[in-house]
Amino acid sequence: MSKKIIVLGAGISGLSTAYWLVKKGYDITIIEEKNEPGGSMISRRINNFLVDYGPNSGLETTPLIRKLVDEVQLSNEMIYANSSASKRYILKNGALIPLPMNPFSFIKTNLFSTSAKFRLMAEPFIPKSDDGYYQSIAQFVMRRLGNEFLDYAIDPFVSGVFAGDPEKLSVKSAFPKLYRLEEVYGGLIKGMIKGAKERKQRNEESKQSAKMFSFIEGMQSLPNAIAANLKDNIIFNAKVLNVLGTNDHQWKVIFELDGKQESVIADSVISTLPAYIASKIFSELDDKLVEHLNSIYYPPVMVLYLGYKKSDIQRELDGFGFLIPSKGKKHFLGAIWSSSIFPNRCPDDKAAFTLFIGGARSPQIFNMEKSKLIKIVLSEFHEIMKIEGEPIIIESKMWEKAIPQYNLGYIEHENYIEQFEKKNKGIVLSGNYRGGISVGDCIKNSELRIQDL
Ligand SMILES: Cc1cc2nc3c(=O)[nH]c(=O)nc-3n(C[C@H](O)[C@H](O)[C@H](O)COP(=O)(O)OP(=O)(O)OC[C@H]3O[C@@H](n4cnc5c(N)ncnc54)[C@H](O)[C@@H]3O)c2cc1C
Repeated sequence: MSKKIIVLGAGISGLSTAYWLVKKGYDITIIEEKNEPGGSMISRRINNFLVDYGPNSGLETTPLIRKLVDEVQLSNEMIYANSSASKRYILKNGALIPLPMNPFSFIKTNLFSTSAKFRLMAEPFIPKSDDGYYQSIAQFVMRRLGNEFLDYAIDPFVSGVFAGDPEKLSVKSAFPKLYRLEEVYGGLIKGMIKGAKERKQRNEESKQSAKMFSFIEGMQSLPNAIAANLKDNIIFNAKVLNVLGTNDHQWKVIFELDGKQESVIADSVISTLPAYIASKIFSELDDKLVEHLNSIYYPPVMVLYLGYKKSDIQRELDGFGFLIPSKGKKHFLGAIWSSSIFPNRCPDDKAAFTLFIGGARSPQIFNMEKSKLIKIVLSEFHEIMKIEGEPIIIESKMWEKAIPQYNLGYIEHENYIEQFEKKNKGIVLSGNYRGGISVGDCIKNSELRIQDL
């Protein structure tokens, strides 16, 4: 008889895990609290505007993504970003300045001062540091590249990816590939040259050169298509309450369905629930695990989706959007120019934008009343973008606990989770708080974590 495995959660981590396992011939059941697949990946078409409340795009960093998309028959709906979307802006002194993407534009840019440019040239001569797990990305960048690079490139980039605080994120845990350039090659510039050759051998793409993708009806199309493939294996509207050991070395998953408690016995349980939920589910098995999982911080983030008549926007929408450094002192982190990146996001004479508010840098912003906060953000956004009219569509979603932060000391949580898995054979803790938060990382890890089953 094939091994029985329960997967907890039908976000992209749970669905792709289950998909690979079904292919290997295991008997799989996914238990999901909501009535739809996708977790953080939520897409809706409202009045002809496509709203992605969670991820707006993914990066094709591994061939596994295309493999999954092809196998769930979604290739016809997969779309890639327009070439102009590689242009990203940074707000500096009220103006949007393109982030230089090659040595020539770096020399010409007014994003960095001349002394900051000379400082960058010293990078290959800066010695290695000791312990990247306890070094923040801010300390790392400051040491290797100088403070302007931290303020106007890394600080906004970190809020764009993690909605994070560069002073708190561990460089080695949150940006392992970046840290590796120093650890293995002795510097970022040297490492980038040599790393490109290695990636080519492994058939992988760097995050900088990987293609940005989405789907005609938004990011949720992917979990929807995987779920359609696994349809008989998913129980929706079922909230997992607890996982207990049985006398014959199996695992009992207790969940609530239609107001009744039910249970199922399995040889293995793979959790892809957020850390703060997993901490409750496994609380009967290990007190210390609870502490570790609860220590992983998920800051609040509000997504504000706006649609306008194109004729109300004075500036050209020739890029991905813009990010705001902490020094910019605005009430939002940045804006994605959604309808300029992918086709079919809204009618041709309209434009759509996705703004992000809050994050680890400014969680206290939500002490302000929501309508007041949105009013301030709108006025700041209109000034930056030279917009004269009012939005014709406003949608928002508050993520109270948005994205797990791989902060300083995260390695202790990671080590403890590994010990817990060794002690409790058959239990696997997966999801975006391990091995990377991006959609691509979740897909890659879903395959990695099941290799020892
Ligand atoms: C606002 C936002 C923007 C983002 N932007 C991007 C982006 O542009 N690009 C990118 O690559 N990544 C982005 N990310 C990150 C990425 O979307 C997530 O890391 C990824 O989707 C997480 O997938 P997951 O399956 O690990 O977790 P989740 O999507 O959180 O899935 C967990 C699932 O578990 C279920 N669940 C919870 N509790 C229970 C319970 N008790 N019982 C049963 N089920 C339960 C939930 O309902 C959910 O379906 C973004 C994330 C957010 C929040």
